[in-house]
Amino acid sequence: MKITAAHGSGGRDSARLMETVFGRRFANAVLDKMEDAAALDLHGGTPPGRLAVSTDSFVVSPLVFKGGDIGKLSVCGTVNDLLMMGAVPRYLTCGFILEEGLEIALLDRLAASMAETAAEAGVLIVAGDTKVAGTGGGLYVNTAGIGLIPAGRAVSASACKPGDAVLLSGTLGDHHACILSARLDIENPIESDCACLRDLTDALFARDIAVRAMRDVTRGGLGTILNELADSSGCAIELQEEKIPVSEAVRGFCGVMGLDPLYMGNEGKMVAVVDGADAEKALAAMRAAPHGRNAAVIGRAGEGRGVLMKTRLGGTRRVDVLYGEGLPRIC
Ligand code: MG
Repeated sequence: MKITAAHGSGGRDSARLMETVFGRRFANAVLDKMEDAAALDLHGGTPPGRLAVSTDSFVVSPLVFKGGDIGKLSVCGTVNDLLMMGAVPRYLTCGFILEEGLEIALLDRLAASMAETAAEAGVLIVAGDTKVAGTGGGLYVNTAGIGLIPAGRAVSASACKPGDAVLLSGTLGDHHACILSARLDIENPIESDCACLRDLTDALFARDIAVRAMRDVTRGGLGTILNELADSSGCAIELQEEKIPVSEAVRGFCGVMGLDPLYMGNEGKMVAVVDGADAEKALAAMRAAPHGRNAAVIGRAGEGRGVLMKTRLGGTRRVDVLYGEGLPRIC
């Protein structure tokens, strides 16, 4: 078996590769939980909190796109994974693989973008490395991040319970549609949603909302991440299609391209699963934050397994994880 593009999709093949190679070789109690960031206990108990650690590599093409670039993306991606564990992000490291022929002016612009995004996110870039390999004029970045999870905060993909509300912070598919449009030279107004989601997580915790689980909606799309939450928690998730926000531009684009917004990647959207009693309070908190203006309650957790969706036409459809490739190199 050789690596194929499907192994980078964030869908079923990525999950298999994780299980059969990395999960098997690196197995331990922390990694086996498969959260967005590892929550590390350095104190042998709860107070004074745990460390969150995450790493991600960025290979997006093109390097600069409407609404962002690989620099901004490489900070947002790792910071968002820390935030999804309820952590306050603190430090980042970055490793660059540069290809010969890359314009230094472009590298400088991307570094400036990283610095600006890190300042907005409240993280310091504290270590880095540069290697040169290959001759294609391209650039790849890895970032690793550390954050602090305050004592008593226990956000986990495995904590959803029947009766919980499922919220989505905004419209699906914007980043994916933007990158695909750039690759295919299609003119449209669609911009990437690439953003740091700290305003949203801060808003939820500031209002003492009982947050069970959070996950950013990246590769594999909403369909895949909701299946991950349902599987980890041992519950079902029931969605209402008409409640899922998709912009007119992305909906039109998906129609023409034959794409399903449920499986499209974003870089500035998140799902929050909260106690059902806090649904309205959580919705108000998210909508009041700059990156949550289009937030919606899209469903609830229930008894059973898997993800089901009540369609606009009144039927019920099972929503599976992404199969096959998706679009490579969107992040
Ligand atoms: Mg994530």
